[in-house]
Amino acid sequence: MTDSFQFAGATVEIVEPGTILAAARVNPVELLRRATFPEPVRRAGLTVSSAETPDGPVHVFAAEISTVAGDDLPQRDRIRAVVLGNDPVGVLLAKRIAAGDPITTRIVDGVGTAAVAAYKKLGLDRPNDPPPQREARPGVLADAAAGLQATVSYDAGGTLVRLRAEVPRDDVTPEHLAAMVKLLLQAVVDLQPPGEATLGEEPLAGRRFVVARETIPKVATTTQEVTLDQVGGLAAVVGELRQIAVSFRHPEAMARWGARRPQGILMYGPPGTGKTMLSRALANEIGADFREIRTPEILDKWLGGSERNIKQIFRDARRYRVPTLMLFDEFDSIISYAGSGGDAASQAINAVAGIFKQEMNDLIEANPNVIVVATTNFPHRVDDSLIRSGRFDVKISVPKPDDTSRTEIFRKMIAQLAAVHERPGFTMFADGIDLAALGGLSHGMTGADIKEVLRRVQLAKAMQDARTGGLVDPISQADLVASIADLRG
Ligand code: ADP
Repeated sequence: MTDSFQFAGATVEIVEPGTILAAARVNPVELLRRATFPEPVRRAGLTVSSAETPDGPVHVFAAEISTVAGDDLPQRDRIRAVVLGNDPVGVLLAKRIAAGDPITTRIVDGVGTAAVAAYKKLGLDRPNDPPPQREARPGVLADAAAGLQATVSYDAGGTLVRLRAEVPRDDVTPEHLAAMVKLLLQAVVDLQPPGEATLGEEPLAGRRFVVARETIPKVATTTQEVTLDQVGGLAAVVGELRQIAVSFRHPEAMARWGARRPQGILMYGPPGTGKTMLSRALANEIGADFREIRTPEILDKWLGGSERNIKQIFRDARRYRVPTLMLFDEFDSIISYAGSGGDAASQAINAVAGIFKQEMNDLIEANPNVIVVATTNFPHRVDDSLIRSGRFDVKISVPKPDDTSRTEIFRKMIAQLAAVHERPGFTMFADGIDLAALGGLSHGMTGADIKEVLRRVQLAKAMQDARTGGLVDPISQADLVASIADLRG
């Protein structure tokens, strides 16, 4: 969904405003970083984030508009001259710098940098600029239609304009976001010198601004992009998750046949067997956003806090406008019988479990974009009613890997590392690694343990590389065998 409107002659498009607001609850969302603006504005941007205030959680809209490029810092020599001055101490220090004394140089440059920062903050760094006409500048900009009011402040000698508005989290709507974009553009227009625009022409005529979540460029080594192909062993589990992904991606086929896609998946098994990895890989297979909710995010020491948190999590979930996989990691502490006692803590957990069940009942009808996965290390502790009622209609056991599966995990992890790190002239693994032998030797270990075995070898090699300036052999069978023995202790 895209909102679009006209402002001062420009076309503004806001892509998925609901998602931008939902995402801002988790991490700050930066908008308009790459847009270009008319002179004298060099840079502008809008950040939407989340904050706690005494009156409750709010969405914070913060815009910054700068009329100077970021690269006009004073020269180092000029700063030194200012810091050192003409008195005897200054002259002495200058001599030492000239003689190449590293400590004096560091101290003087450090003082210089701090002084420049302080000057900039006080707006004293451009003494020849005409004094800013603060009376003429508004302290508040408001958009009456959306009821949004932003405070305006000026910094760095008037070359930086900041707008800031807060909206209670429960009240925030895409209209607030649109209003903030309008205020930002209004501030940009206000900075233009009078008489600049041709008479009758709107100040932003012909421009187009796209307000969208920018995808953060991914580093090759990131573990975020996990696919089902990277999972070693667990062939039946991977097959089942692929089926679920198909049902999720083809709602029309499901509807035609009156079939219902799974709405909740409970994965259980010992720690380190890949439950979290499988959830990420499923999200990836579906093409869904991944939202992980950890238990501490829910549990709150204040009376009623936990209930509020879980309600808020589901309220947000109803608003997700893109397919989203919600992972409740190690959720046994909440969906289990653990809280069956009569004390206050148990009652709080029971209340949260009650809300969770209630919300799960109609979440999927309310928002077909969402799929929920919960993981637990203690399946026997999980409340049966959650499973019986169809809230978690798929139960998947993720066991510890057997010999063949561990061989498979070694094979996939080694192939992945080589694919990411090897390049012409750099070989990471020696030829003739006996994967089956490694699978046998690592008896009783999980995927997470095998990852640790490899991590230790990588670290040892890197340290050796650093010490010797690159005189290291590739990782050998013996290195891996030693690391397995080492991890066993
Ligand atoms: P769990 O959620 O079951 O505790 P994780 O998914 O956090 O386990 O596993 C930790 C790491 O171990 C994963 O990120 C992955 O790198 C590795 N891992 C675990 N099991 C497997 C597997 N079957 N295949 C490949 N890697 C695995």
